[in-house]
Amino acid sequence: MRAAVLHAPKDLRIEESELAAPGPRQVRVGVAAGGICGSDLHYYYNGGFGTVRLKEPMILGHEVSGVVEAVGAEVTRVTPGDRVALNPSRPCGACRYCLAGMPNHCLDMRFYGSAMRLPHVQGAFAEALIVDEAQCVPVPTRVPLTSAAFAEPLSVGLHAVRRAGPLVGRSVLVTGQGPIGALAVAAAKVAGAGRIVATDVVDAALTASRAMGADETINVASDAETLAAYGADKGRFDVALEASGNPAALRSALDVVRPGGVIVQMGLGGDMTLPMNMVVAKELELRGTFRFHEEFAWAVEFIASGRIDVTPILTDVFPLVEADRAFELAADRNRAMKVQLAVNPDYADALG
Ligand code: ZN
Repeated sequence: MRAAVLHAPKDLRIEESELAAPGPRQVRVGVAAGGICGSDLHYYYNGGFGTVRLKEPMILGHEVSGVVEAVGAEVTRVTPGDRVALNPSRPCGACRYCLAGMPNHCLDMRFYGSAMRLPHVQGAFAEALIVDEAQCVPVPTRVPLTSAAFAEPLSVGLHAVRRAGPLVGRSVLVTGQGPIGALAVAAAKVAGAGRIVATDVVDAALTASRAMGADETINVASDAETLAAYGADKGRFDVALEASGNPAALRSALDVVRPGGVIVQMGLGGDMTLPMNMVVAKELELRGTFRFHEEFAWAVEFIASGRIDVTPILTDVFPLVEADRAFELAADRNRAMKVQLAVNPDYADALG
C-alpha cells in the first residue's frame, strides 16, 4: 500500500506501508480519486497555515472516493465492490457539541490530513484506507469516482448556503471562484437563488463559475465598476458568500449587500480587517461557516442524481507517483480549478 506522505514543505514522498484488517464495524476502501484542496496546498508549500504546522510526516488528502475491498463482520451499509464517497470528518459523537447537533464543532474531531492535533490525523492520499462504516456513502456505479470525490468540497458549499438562510428568489453574490466558491455557486443554485453573480480576478475561474450556474460573472481586477454599480440604493444583493479570503472581497461585499442582508465568510485568509461601521449602519449580519456534517450525504445525492454537475471544475487527474506535478498545477489559478490524483491504479477504470 503506497501513500503520499509530506515530510516537510515540497518534500512529498510516495511510501509503502502495511494496512491492518478492518475491525467489526470498519471497511477497507481502495482509494480511486483524491482532490487536492487549498489546505493540502498550504501544507505542501508552507508546511501549514496560521498556528497549524506540520510537526511530523503526514499523509495529505481528504477529498476522496473509492471502492470497498473488504468489510468487517458487523458492517451492513456496504459490501465489497461498492463505490463510495468517503466522509473525511470523524466527530467523536459524545462531546457537548456532538450531542447538541453541532458535530462540525466537535471537541475531539479527527479530520483526515489535518495537523491541528498531535499526533496528526493521517490523510487519504493512500491506495487503501481502513475507515469507519459511517464514513462510507455509497454512490451508484454509473457515477465516475472523480465526480464522487467532489462530495467533500461540495458539502462545504452546501453548509455555507445553509448558514446564509433561505435563498429562494434571493440575489446572491459569490466572491472568489476557486473550487469552493464555484461549488457554492452550484449550491446556491439548487437552494433556489434567483440571481447569482460571481466575482474573481482570474477569467478562467469565472468561465468555470458560469458553467456551475452563475448568471453573471465579473472580473473585479479589470472591471471593478460593474460590481460597484450593485452598491446603488445601499446595495442590491440579499446575500454574499465570501469564498476568497481576500479582505478586498469582503470589503466589496459590505458595499453591495443591502441593509439587513447576510454575509457568510467562507474563505480563511488569516486575519481580515473590515470597516465595522458598515456592519453597524447597514444592520448587516456577518456569519461564519466551518466544514459540514449532514451535508456530506446531500452532496453525494446531488452529484449522483446529476442535479449538480461538478465536471466543469475538474481540470486534470494525475497518477499518485506524479503528485508533485499535480500540486504544482493545482497551485496555478490561471491553469487549474480542481486537480485530482488517481490514487490506486487498480481503480483507474472507475474514474470517469
Ligand atoms: Zn464530539
